[in-house]
Amino acid sequence: MADDVLQMPLQFLKGVGPRKAADLKKAGLHTVEDLLFRFPRRYEDRSRLQTIISLKPGQTAAVSGVVLSAGLAHTRRPGFRLFSALIQDDSGQVQAVWPNQAFLKDVIRSHQRIVLFGKVEIWGSRGLQITDPEFEIIKDETDGIRDPGSGNREPETLHTGRIVPVYERTGSVTPNMQRRFVWQALEQLPPQPFDPVPDEILKQERWPSRREALWQAHFPDPDTPIDALNAFATPAQRRLIFEDFFVFQSGLALRRHENAQVRKRLVCTVDDRIRQSARAVLPFKLTAGQRDALAEIVADLQKPWPMQRLLQGDVGAGKTIVALLAAVVAMDNGYQVAVMAPTEILAEQHYRTIVKVLDGRPYRTALLSGRVTAATRRALLPAIERGEINLVVGTHALVQEQVKFKSLALAVIDEQHRFGVVQRGTLAAKGLHPDVLVMTATPIPRTLALTECGDMEVSVIRGLPPGRKPIKTIVKADSRRDEVYALMRAEIEQGRQVYVIYPLVDESEKIDLKAATAMAEEIALVFPQYRVALLHGRMKGDEKERVMHAFLQGDLQILVSTTVVEVGVDVANATVMVVEHAERFGLSQLHQLRGRIGRGAHASTCVLLYQAPWSDDARARLKAMTDTSDGFVIAERDLQLRGPGDFFGTRQSGLPTLRAGDLTRDVDLLERAYEEARARIDRGTLTAAQQAYVRSVWQRQFGLITVG
Ligand code: ADP
Ligand code: MG
Repeated sequence: MADDVLQMPLQFLKGVGPRKAADLKKAGLHTVEDLLFRFPRRYEDRSRLQTIISLKPGQTAAVSGVVLSAGLAHTRRPGFRLFSALIQDDSGQVQAVWPNQAFLKDVIRSHQRIVLFGKVEIWGSRGLQITDPEFEIIKDETDGIRDPGSGNREPETLHTGRIVPVYERTGSVTPNMQRRFVWQALEQLPPQPFDPVPDEILKQERWPSRREALWQAHFPDPDTPIDALNAFATPAQRRLIFEDFFVFQSGLALRRHENAQVRKRLVCTVDDRIRQSARAVLPFKLTAGQRDALAEIVADLQKPWPMQRLLQGDVGAGKTIVALLAAVVAMDNGYQVAVMAPTEILAEQHYRTIVKVLDGRPYRTALLSGRVTAATRRALLPAIERGEINLVVGTHALVQEQVKFKSLALAVIDEQHRFGVVQRGTLAAKGLHPDVLVMTATPIPRTLALTECGDMEVSVIRGLPPGRKPIKTIVKADSRRDEVYALMRAEIEQGRQVYVIYPLVDESEKIDLKAATAMAEEIALVFPQYRVALLHGRMKGDEKERVMHAFLQGDLQILVSTTVVEVGVDVANATVMVVEHAERFGLSQLHQLRGRIGRGAHASTCVLLYQAPWSDDARARLKAMTDTSDGFVIAERDLQLRGPGDFFGTRQSGLPTLRAGDLTRDVDLLERAYEEARARIDRGTLTAAQQAYVRSVWQRQFGLITVG
């Protein structure tokens, strides 16, 4: 089982008092193990400290010395402040200067021992100086923890004279202190700590033991190539990264495995009558991708354990019809289906689509959104409970509230970006074990799908239904808005319709709302002969409905909207989308927005208007939009640009965080961990100790998860 030292809370380390423990906790570091799995941000080779006398202009050097004096220097340039310090070692003195960092006067003081790492330059008659160096204060009278205690054999060379780990500062815990804590923790490791990584993998990869790897990842041997360290590519680092992924993936695989032991109450069968019935509702020929996905889903419906499947496909790939055909199978078995959407607008849209497709068929459907009247609701709830309603469409509240089903066999969850982890949990907690199909609105990069949904099966619909015209995407400066208006006018004269999208970071943000309103007014002035309306999330439900309906009917030519249309609307006649302040949107969101056009027979144009100044990232995002219209490619780019933490926007509770692994850097290790974990859980070859360790880590780190 897990080793005691590693599972100790950090306060157990000398020098970590309540305050520091709290700061570390805030950064997600609870136990000694957490601390040891927090890699340094980078490594510095301070093994070859130079003597000051040997410094030469142009080189980047590390020196160590005592601060003789320090302070803000006067400069002639107004508003420009220079902090400088005079450093001395046994060989001589050198000046270090930091432009415009006046706060350093409270950090660097006389008598401190300091290590500098930076560029050596000639500075007029004053001789050499080190400009804007990285620095670290090695000994500071005010540090208070200089002597961490008797039992500690902290070497002289902890901070210099070796390859040194440089940690991120965490609250009151300086990089320097963290180095001491890590050293202390490593010293107390048992000779052979429990290792969650299977032996044969270690042998195969020639990876070091856990103990050795932890030491090497923090205090590498002197001959370790510094570049490899900083690329996090040494065997020690890769082993630990693999461990991180492997433990996580084992947890997911365990969940998946345990799910397969559950016996669901309602198992579908498929016969010719049902096949015929599904064919009857089909409004068009399915694409090959749709057919494959449907086959996988229908196979799951017939299995004895509940389906946990993610249906991925680009915007417009046609996921809805696939889900609906699965629903028909369940309904023809006499069971009920729930379809859940993230927003009311989307729920209503789904409902309309479903009613249209099922027209003339014997199924009873109902919309149970937050907007139905209390009376309707009162009538619907018992009907659902008696099983008289075959299919219910609503928001995610459907499963969270007290809606009771007689025979819920299939839950379809349409998500914007987050998956139904929580919803799935709710269903299970209610003792319901329906088949669950989660649909994503845009593709998810493979690495993220592996981590976020590794306990689910995945179906991917590649490609789009035939006959789609490619969308032309243009990036334009806001100052050239006249050209955009001309384009809009030309299209409207052809009978087409236009979306103008306005960013609304938060639907409750009054300023943004005002800006969107002003935009709608301006556009109404520019196009007095056409009908323009505004749609935003703060409008009343029936008002929203009216506007949407008018646009759908073609009564409105221009719809100025916030991102509430993102997932909702399907208007084939709309051929132009103008995105205002495109620089403010995330890449996946832009792609999803763009998916609202190009749905009909006419060619479409997406105009991304930006306002300067825009960041490099914004530029890269808009460039990606013009480069490709493949949602899977966009998703990968988005991940690279934003990093995994940000991919889904605001982090939601329950989202697992990895410790050492990086989803963009360590893709190969993740894939490997995924395969190895699944294979071992399926074959039952993970030892009891390894399983117990996986469960305990999951319990501690990811809380909500109930493995086992
Ligand atoms: P998404 O995958 O984004 O949810 P939808 O399910 O909304 O996509 O489908 C997008 C559009 O494509 C809809 O208007 C739908 O009717 C149409 N569609 C879906 N599948 C096909 C197909 N096989 N052939 C023709 N049109 C299709
Ligand atoms: Mg959809």
